[in-house]
Amino acid sequence: MTPPETRTNTSTDGHVSDVPVVHDYHVHSNYSDGERLVPMLDAAAEMGLEAVGIADHCNVAADEDLQRAKREFGFNLDRTHPLRREAIESLRDRYDVTIFDAVELDYAPRDEAEIAAFLDEVDFDYAIGSVHRVDRTNVQSSTPFSEWSGAERRAYVDDYYEALADLVESELFAVAAHVDLPERTPELRGYTTADHHELVADAFGRSRTVPELNAGRVRREYGEFHPAPDFREALRERGVEFVAGSDSHAPGEIRARKEELDAHFAARGAEPATLFEGFE
Ligand SMILES: [Zn+2]
Ligand SMILES: [Zn+2]
Repeated sequence: MTPPETRTNTSTDGHVSDVPVVHDYHVHSNYSDGERLVPMLDAAAEMGLEAVGIADHCNVAADEDLQRAKREFGFNLDRTHPLRREAIESLRDRYDVTIFDAVELDYAPRDEAEIAAFLDEVDFDYAIGSVHRVDRTNVQSSTPFSEWSGAERRAYVDDYYEALADLVESELFAVAAHVDLPERTPELRGYTTADHHELVADAFGRSRTVPELNAGRVRREYGEFHPAPDFREALRERGVEFVAGSDSHAPGEIRARKEELDAHFAARGAEPATLFEGFE
């Protein structure tokens, strides 16, 4: 699959609506760790979304430990995508919302061949790529980082951004998710540097993959979008646009996070980028 081009929604007279977010590209369902499709889609319709992307977690790495871990978590979209596709196709008749059959796929540089083969075979509407782990250690959990020295944390965060730049350069994905994920984890917060921003922003500047403005932690402990303001600035300096992604796992999150995303774009007089719907 080739990542789509992007466009912005701003009309020719420059008018920007008060409700800029009409497409939410990052929503989970019970095909990974979210709630059932029907209440998620009810919330999307209620909030006036024109399109919602069901992007469940998926991992196709050959690593046996990861294989075991994903079965324990119930992240089985590598096997269940035909069933989810059947559900999405029948639900499309019942909602006045475009429903994308999408995926949030774990990325590690060593897994590129497996990822490419899987995406070719399954042909999702689009794929989101995520670096959730570096050398098997999950970015989002406080263990083992609370036991690590500052130098160890710094090296880990360096490796995260190297992997993220590789993800962007691979062009395997339409969207790169939560592009400063270490900031979400209190033990890693503050280790992201301007050099990391530049490394990744330069990669986006050369790639068709776009970042998302991810609202997954904006009303939680972190209290900020991904990417953080100075990272957003580095991306904007290179002409990189964002799609909107609520990263919702429950209907109430779709509602609350859409309001946060709308307020963010409206305050800047901007609108998010939109993935073309007719791409291959
Ligand atoms: Zn994620
Ligand atoms: Zn997600």
